[in-house]
Amino acid sequence: MSLIACHDCDLIHRVDAVPEGSIARCSRCGAVLHQHKPDSLDRTLALTVAGLILFVVANAFPFLGFKLQAQVHEILLITGVRELYHQGMWILATVVMLTTIVMPALQMMGLMYVLVPIRLNRIPWKLREVFRFIQFLRPWAMMEVFMLGILVSIVKLAKMATIVPGIAVFAFMALTFVLTASLAVLDSHSVWERIKIRESTRGIPVARTHPIACHSCHLLCCSPSQEAHGPTCPRCGTNLHRRKPDSIARTWALILAAAVFYIPANVLPITIVTSLGKKHADTIISGVIYFISSGMWPIALVIFVASVFVPLIKLLALSYLSFSVQRKSRWRPVDRTKIYRMTEVVGRWSMVDVYVVTILVALVNLGALASIEAGPAAVYFCGVVITTMFAAMSFDPRLIWDQMENKNE
Ligand SMILES: [Zn+2]
Ligand SMILES: [Zn+2]
Repeated sequence: MSLIACHDCDLIHRVDAVPEGSIARCSRCGAVLHQHKPDSLDRTLALTVAGLILFVVANAFPFLGFKLQAQVHEILLITGVRELYHQGMWILATVVMLTTIVMPALQMMGLMYVLVPIRLNRIPWKLREVFRFIQFLRPWAMMEVFMLGILVSIVKLAKMATIVPGIAVFAFMALTFVLTASLAVLDSHSVWERIKIRESTRGIPVARTHPIACHSCHLLCCSPSQEAHGPTCPRCGTNLHRRKPDSIARTWALILAAAVFYIPANVLPITIVTSLGKKHADTIISGVIYFISSGMWPIALVIFVASVFVPLIKLLALSYLSFSVQRKSRWRPVDRTKIYRMTEVVGRWSMVDVYVVTILVALVNLGALASIEAGPAAVYFCGVVITTMFAAMSFDPRLIWDQMENKNE
């Protein structure tokens, strides 16, 4: 039996041992408190090993081939990043490289580093730092979004030329599934439990009735360690806050920044196509219109929803949530918490258009005959996605519930 505080509404639950394969949910807001995943560590380890092998194949072998008339142009996974860099889009090149290559690789290596010693009943050096880093990387590794980007680009180019998929594309596809699965079966609770702690030996006691829940390892801290920069979790070392600091002010600042980026992202050209010596600039909307006019409805819908609709809805939802907390609203807290969870999940999918641009730039590179350059909107668009993701992260859903508790007292 253990005490778990809900990470979305901060209600403290007494949870008895959760049977294998079942989930304990918060009785107030429905968030997952604890999920007991059978053989979690073994399965995660096996999938991670498979993932590392696929990762090498996906990076070493030809990714896609582009055949136009007699010319064939073959690319690797990294080609898009290199091409963006050569076009002076180094911010975009860095973001694409980090989210599709570096972060997934670090994630898998980190999991190996943590899980192999644990299997051998040892505690690896710096376990808490490494494991916290793996959790931090989670929202930023976007292989599945890149996968969608590949599909969109293939459909987009199908009319123009023949696209020949390489071995690496299939490896990448398998890797996407394997990595997603390995993180889905990982029970982080069982890793954190390996770290034995002796609370209250050197910590500062907080009131027994109001323990602080740790954000990363979900330990309920009754007596956090006192470091120079404030109380920290005795198990994982994260700084403890009862609520995220300056949550509402930070969220508003990031919403505002994203709203500013949103305008050039939609007005400026996202791609500049050269075809038989003629240049032609495309914005996100003109791309969507092109797809509709050529009868490719599903692709038009994917691009429109991911690039125009989702960022806008996310900005509106976060503004509404921040506003409702400031107004001390007591209206439907469960639904507002659901809205918050939705904004956290959907945001990353907006990156799809950035990835489409990356792939197009790499593939269509035949000089004056046919080539595509990234336009300035791609950078602003990337800015929109990243700032809205940070905005969702800085909003604290527990603020929605604080108002409900005030009344009960
Ligand atoms: Zn809850
Ligand atoms: Zn902790």
